[in-house]
Amino acid sequence: MKRTEVIIAADRNYLVEREKNVPISRYFGEDTFNATTMRERLPEAVFNRLQDTTIRGRKPDLETANAVAHAMKEWAIEKGATHYCHWFQPMTGSTAEKHDAFIEFTSDGTPIEHFSGKQLIQGEPDASNFPSGGIRSTFEARGYTAWDISSPAFILKRGIGSALCIPSIFISYSGEALDKKTPLLRSIEAINTSAVNMLRVLGNRKVRRVYTTLGPEQEYFLIDQDYYYKRQDLLLAGRAVLGATPPKGQELGDHYFGSIRERIFSFMHDVEEELYKLGIPAKTRHNEAAPGQYEIAPLFEEANLAVDHNQILMETLRSVATKHRLAALLHEKPFAGINGSGKHLNWSLADDLGNNLLNPGRTPQDNIQFLVFLVATIRAVYHHADILRATIASSGNDHRLGSNEAPPVIISVFLGEQLTGILEDIEKGIVSNGTNGAIIDMGISKLPVLSKDNTDRNRTSPFAFTGNKFEFRAVGASQSISFPATVLNTIVAESLDILAGKIAAKGENLRQATLDVLKDEIGTIKRVLFMGDNYSKEWEAEAGRRGLPNKKTSYESLPDLATPKAVALFEKYRVLSSAELMSRYQVRLERYVKEIDIEAGTLCDMVDSQVLPAAIRFQGELASSILSAAQALGDDSLLAPQRELLASLTGLIGETMRLVAELKGNVERAESLHSEEEKAAAFGTTVRETIAKIRSRVDAIELVIDDEIWPLPRFWEMLFIK
Ligand code: ADP
Ligand code: MG
Repeated sequence: MKRTEVIIAADRNYLVEREKNVPISRYFGEDTFNATTMRERLPEAVFNRLQDTTIRGRKPDLETANAVAHAMKEWAIEKGATHYCHWFQPMTGSTAEKHDAFIEFTSDGTPIEHFSGKQLIQGEPDASNFPSGGIRSTFEARGYTAWDISSPAFILKRGIGSALCIPSIFISYSGEALDKKTPLLRSIEAINTSAVNMLRVLGNRKVRRVYTTLGPEQEYFLIDQDYYYKRQDLLLAGRAVLGATPPKGQELGDHYFGSIRERIFSFMHDVEEELYKLGIPAKTRHNEAAPGQYEIAPLFEEANLAVDHNQILMETLRSVATKHRLAALLHEKPFAGINGSGKHLNWSLADDLGNNLLNPGRTPQDNIQFLVFLVATIRAVYHHADILRATIASSGNDHRLGSNEAPPVIISVFLGEQLTGILEDIEKGIVSNGTNGAIIDMGISKLPVLSKDNTDRNRTSPFAFTGNKFEFRAVGASQSISFPATVLNTIVAESLDILAGKIAAKGENLRQATLDVLKDEIGTIKRVLFMGDNYSKEWEAEAGRRGLPNKKTSYESLPDLATPKAVALFEKYRVLSSAELMSRYQVRLERYVKEIDIEAGTLCDMVDSQVLPAAIRFQGELASSILSAAQALGDDSLLAPQRELLASLTGLIGETMRLVAELKGNVERAESLHSEEEKAAAFGTTVRETIAKIRSRVDAIELVIDDEIWPLPRFWEMLFIK
């Protein structure tokens, strides 16, 4: 499609009919088999049994499952579903579904709709093609899915099709986790145990359960679908592997929070309608910093639900975009030269009485509890910064992290002045006087003033305390938030246990014991606290002096998942066995290699079949026009600038051709290396460097070539024409 035609297409606006003209509250969650629906549709006894098993984290018995399956099927069929599927999250980072029709046949061949408790509880999708990082040998390739009773089943609608989706875990025959949900659920249990234990040590007898809350802020780009289909790189690699930076980007700051264009507004409305039906509490929407970039942020939810919902949200962005003839790009860096996309992962702990444990609270009593959980979290980040950094390692995030738009790979914690001051006081022992009065006097009483709206913000910090939660800001836009959350839960569980042990050991005066333990800890972990500009060179040097890890690329960071320290941690909390952890490490490394491999292949293909033919054609036209002009003028002294252009273009073509050959050689060599570690290192260095060199030549060609001949949608068009 020619550029002008796209503009016309964009003009048609593809306004999709508004589906619901009723308040959100009236249809919120209508496509989920949630507690309200279950209460309506299940016999009371069954409903109560199910609630009980959910709370206790147990498996329902077959009789209960049969009753639930029946009600679920009836409900789903009324909603238009013909099929059901166990919906799970393999280690690819996306979601998986294999649909089975409800239809079955009785012995005399009569068709009936049937769905049993057994089918609800367990599936055998086989699914041997999913990455397992070596867990499953081919002779036992079968994987099993099992109903995750803590996340409600929902109706998936795409086009005219509908299916009942049952959120599930995915495990091997021998019970090893093959997915991202199983370890998350285990980590939720781990932090529950450790946090409740800590509360007991602190004298809190009322709380029975502690759970993680997550609120992911999702950034994404939208471009016209016609452009998308014309870019092999966006289609295959998710990012533009070539393309000149436009003369205007985000420097005027006119996109951020700007007025939302009509076409985009319609899209957002449509997305939100879908999300509300699925019970996903989308709350905030706005234009982001880069042109063509947007953000959607739901209200926080219990971690397991938030993870499922973020997966559904990403899929909904993609599928609704298609309906509007747009393409949603979730890659961390689709366009070089302008901001990439991340996902701020807000993380906190809540108890079953409705309190946020990272809320400073109103009384000193709460404050001491708050300070313990605060210090435990900082302690966890300090001791496991390497693992935390590895959770966000990906080929996409390598383009974003540490480049003046996103936090650096040095993990530090921002607390703000007030809290930093309080921790300093505790460390100095100013708060060492263990009476109630002293605590109130010394300024812990200042804590309630610390509202979540305080302006003490630091946008450059990778891990910032923002009033009543931590914000892990370095998470990539396209990645599942499951593993970062799993790791946070596990490392904080460990720190809570260690602190609880120390506090309990000191005995006697609880308050004094707690402050003594905090004092000790702060002395060590304060090295991870940083209030300044994380983007600055000075910080990098300072962090080096403090001994904080700084692994710039993902292939250097990923091995930190496989250290004896990491194995011991995950085994101790039964979140991942050594084999399960190793498999995740392998899968991540392999993925890193494959993604760069695909980028390299796509770049070579585009250069060979699109860029060079266009460049050579323009070179020919230029050459003949110089010849004929010289002839017509009878004097070629005026043609020197055009000759220079021809010479420089010819030079660029030659260099590009040489570099493409070099890249192909690099890729071949990298692929032939033995270990995945060596491959990752080769792809992360020589392959990436050659890709960058080619790109610089190709982008220079794009800027001199006839726009009519240039075969690809350019950045300025994709980002600004809507
Ligand atoms: P901002 O941090 O941008 O100023 P908010 O504080 O309102 O905005 O929240 C941003 C995100 O943090 C939202 O997605 C919200 O759901 C999430 N959030 C707020 N409180 C919590 C919490 N206790 N636990 C987890 N996420 C939270
Ligand atoms: Mg934001």
